[in-house]
Amino acid sequence: MNLPAHRERSFGPWMGSVQNPLIIAGPCSAESLEQVLETAQALKSEGHTQLFRAGVWKPRTRPGQFEGAGYNALEWLQTMRQEVGLPFVIEVANADHVEKALAVQADAVWIGARTTVNPFYVQEIAEALRGTRIPVLVKNPIHADLGLWLGALERLDKEGLTDLAAVHRGFFSSFAAPYRNEPRWEMSFELRRQAPHIPIICDPSHIAGDRRLVEHVAQIAMDIQMDGLMVEVHPDPEQALSDAAQQITPTTLASLWRTLEANAPKDVALQEVIDAERLKLDAVDQEMVHLLRQRMDIVDALGQLKVSHGAGIFQMDRWFDLLQKRGLQAESLDLNRAFIEELFQVVHKYSVEHQVGVYRATRQNREE
Ligand code: PEP
Ligand code: MN
Repeated sequence: MNLPAHRERSFGPWMGSVQNPLIIAGPCSAESLEQVLETAQALKSEGHTQLFRAGVWKPRTRPGQFEGAGYNALEWLQTMRQEVGLPFVIEVANADHVEKALAVQADAVWIGARTTVNPFYVQEIAEALRGTRIPVLVKNPIHADLGLWLGALERLDKEGLTDLAAVHRGFFSSFAAPYRNEPRWEMSFELRRQAPHIPIICDPSHIAGDRRLVEHVAQIAMDIQMDGLMVEVHPDPEQALSDAAQQITPTTLASLWRTLEANAPKDVALQEVIDAERLKLDAVDQEMVHLLRQRMDIVDALGQLKVSHGAGIFQMDRWFDLLQKRGLQAESLDLNRAFIEELFQVVHKYSVEHQVGVYRATRQNREE
C-alpha cells in the first residue's frame, strides 16, 4: 500500500494508541428518535462507547425491506449528540449521502461492505469527501478480495483523508456456518501486514449474524489484538427493523465488556514465555520451507520425466491416493484431517502449476 507507514495507529480523536481499543456501538438502523435516544443514553451511562453508530440509508439485499429513515434519522442523530453527548458515525454509499452527512457534521462515516466492492462508488465517495478531515471507516468488501479493501483505503488517502480505519465484518461464503459471514481472520492479518498503520476494528455482529455468537467473536477479535469493536445494539432487538437476529441489548453489551476485560491479558512475564515458544515455531517453519524446497525439486524432476515421455501432468488417481494417505497420517497423529487436506491442496496446486511451466518451456524450446 502506498500510505506512509510511520504513523502510530490512530483514528480521529478516539484512538491514539493500540492499547486503547475503539468502541463503536449503536443500532443497525436508526428507527425513531425514541429508539436512538434510549440506546444512546444506555450506552453513554454504561461508559465504554466512544462513537455511536446507526444506519440512515440501509443497503438491503432484497427490495421491500426497511431501507432506513433517511433525512429524519439525520435529525434524530443530531438531537442525540446534543442531548446525550455521543459523537455519531453513519454509512455513506454515494456522493449525495456524503453531502448530507457533511451538512449535519457527522463525526465520522463508514463505507459498507456492498460499496467497498465497487471502485466506482468508492471513488465517488472519496471525491465527495475531498478537502474534509472527517474520519472514514472502510468495511471489508463482501467477498474476500484484499485488493478491493486496500484499494478503497488508498482512494481515500489519495483524496487527502488521513483518519482511516478498516472494519472487518466477515465475508460472504457458503461455508460461513455457524456464522452469517465467514471471519477469514487471515485477511485482517494480511491487511495489517500490508498497511500496518491502519487500525482494524472488528464488527462481531455482522460476522456472527446471531446474538448468541457475538461475544465469542468479539473475544477472538480482542485475543488477536484488533484495534476495536463495532457492535450492533438495540433496546428491543427482536423488534428491530433490520438485522434483528444479531443485535444485542445495551445490558448484554455491558456484560460483554466485563467478560472481555476479565479475559484481557495481564501477565507481563508471559510475553517472555510466548517469545520463547515462537522461536521454536520459527525453527519448525524454517524446516517446513526447506522441505517444500526439496519437494519442489522432486516435482521439477518428475515434470521433466513426464514431458520427455509424453505423459500427462495430472493423474486423478494419484491425487486421491495422496490425499487419502496424508489424511490417514493426519488422523493417526491427532491432527485435523481437513487442515492437512487443505494444506496439500495448496501444495498440489503449486506443484501442478510448476509442471505446467516445465511443459510450456519444453514446448517453446522445441518450436524454436
Ligand atoms: C451495517 O453495519 O449495518 C451494515 C449494513 O454493514 P455491512 O456493510 O457490513 O453489511
Ligand atoms: Mn446491520
